[in-house]
Amino acid sequence: MEIKDVILKQQLFFNSNKTKETDFRVHQLKKFKRLLKENENLLYDAIYEDFGKSKYETYISELSLTYHELNLFVKKIKRWSKRKKVSTNFANFPSKSYIIPEPLGNTLVIGAWNYPFQLSLIPAISSLAAGNTVILKPSELPAKTSAVMAKIINENFPVEYFHVLEGGVKETTELLENKFDKIFFTGSINVGRIVYQAAAKHLTPVTLELGGKSPNFVMAGCNIKVTVQRIVWAKFLNAGQTCVAPDYILVEKSIEKEFLTALKKEINKYHKNENDIENNYLRIINTNNFERLNSLIDNDKLYCGGKTNKENRFISPTVLNDVTFEDKIMEDEIFGPILPVISFSNLDEVIKEVKSRTKPLSCYIYSNNRKVINKLLREISFGGGAINDSVMHLSNSNLPFGGVGFSGIGNYHGEAGFNTFSHHKSILDKPFWYESSLKYPPYSDFKMKIMRYLVE
Ligand code: NAD
Repeated sequence: MEIKDVILKQQLFFNSNKTKETDFRVHQLKKFKRLLKENENLLYDAIYEDFGKSKYETYISELSLTYHELNLFVKKIKRWSKRKKVSTNFANFPSKSYIIPEPLGNTLVIGAWNYPFQLSLIPAISSLAAGNTVILKPSELPAKTSAVMAKIINENFPVEYFHVLEGGVKETTELLENKFDKIFFTGSINVGRIVYQAAAKHLTPVTLELGGKSPNFVMAGCNIKVTVQRIVWAKFLNAGQTCVAPDYILVEKSIEKEFLTALKKEINKYHKNENDIENNYLRIINTNNFERLNSLIDNDKLYCGGKTNKENRFISPTVLNDVTFEDKIMEDEIFGPILPVISFSNLDEVIKEVKSRTKPLSCYIYSNNRKVINKLLREISFGGGAINDSVMHLSNSNLPFGGVGFSGIGNYHGEAGFNTFSHHKSILDKPFWYESSLKYPPYSDFKMKIMRYLVE
């Protein structure tokens, strides 16, 4: 079916008001959960073929998050869709005021490749929960996963309500020529710009979930054993191909040696070789990215790792030390299993360096010193993050997830996702039985006095 026809069908369906019924939405989400559960093995196989990712890691990093959001929306749709009463100002006595959350209409969700399942489905679920229709365009790079999502959704949902359109740049460009009521995009900063420009033509609101270089502060006095445990897991999960992965380490000079030794020891505990499927060590998504990452490994600064195999697109967990902010690896988001370590003695100087760059998607602070933690939280702007952990903040759906500045616009997860796909319609509701003469002429000093008394 032509893109234009799908959009037209979705517009007509939205205008039928069917999606405004919360019972309808709850029913659709329950059905979706059932379908995902019935087809779980297809999903595991597809992700394994695309990435070599094990069942367990697919479950914890993709399916569990998706099920969690589905359950949450099924439980909360009715409450979140209710009008919310707010107080009314004196000038409008005797009225009621309330806010009605309403769906935006026909929405487009464009997914990224690194967690192809949850980065496509959680925004789509949020949009359906808020009462919209959805066209989902997953990333074309994990081709098997994209095809399985298309199969499950397109065989079970009517095209006018929820539909997957597969494709790459050409198809996405064509899609973006059309008018939507909302576009939700996850991906790189450069493509985010293209999406934003296309949306501007129709004044379409956007949520852009982008990337960036997320710093990881390791301060003297932290628990080094637990720190390295958490950092190694977060960095090398998905072979570093995670938007919120710690991009680089800023460690206080006084604990640098101890930290590096512990880091190497922790890495050596797992991720031993390229066939280490049980421990979920992944391949790099494609040859372009393999080449890009390979060129970032500076042998003069290699501390551990650095083993590569082009044929398998394998790069072992790699740590570079004695890195400076001027090194090539500090130019762009790494998005792979290479971890540069920069040591510092002056916190203010290092904060200045971080702030001279674009605002990161995440920031992580490992410290036991509340003063230092609060200083970093106050002085550095970033999307979201964690104290004494990395990445895990995104698993709490009470925390809106998104970037700031170059790392993104808007947020989602849980109620934030529902709001991202809703318009909040403000209503003043007035009865006929009373009308004050204050706002009408003739104006007088006496009226002025009353007005001042009421306002000031
Ligand atoms: P990408 O920008 O290359 O692709 C994202 C989507 O845009 C894909 O569906 C792709 O088909 C489409 N696309 C690519 N080029 C296009 C073009 N010229 N015109 C129109 N559409 C186009 O991103 P990616 O490689 O899939 O993902 C990696 C990036 O995404 C990293 O920067 C990462 O940090 C970021 N990311 C962010 C989040 C987040 O939640 N903030 C999550 C995952 C990834």
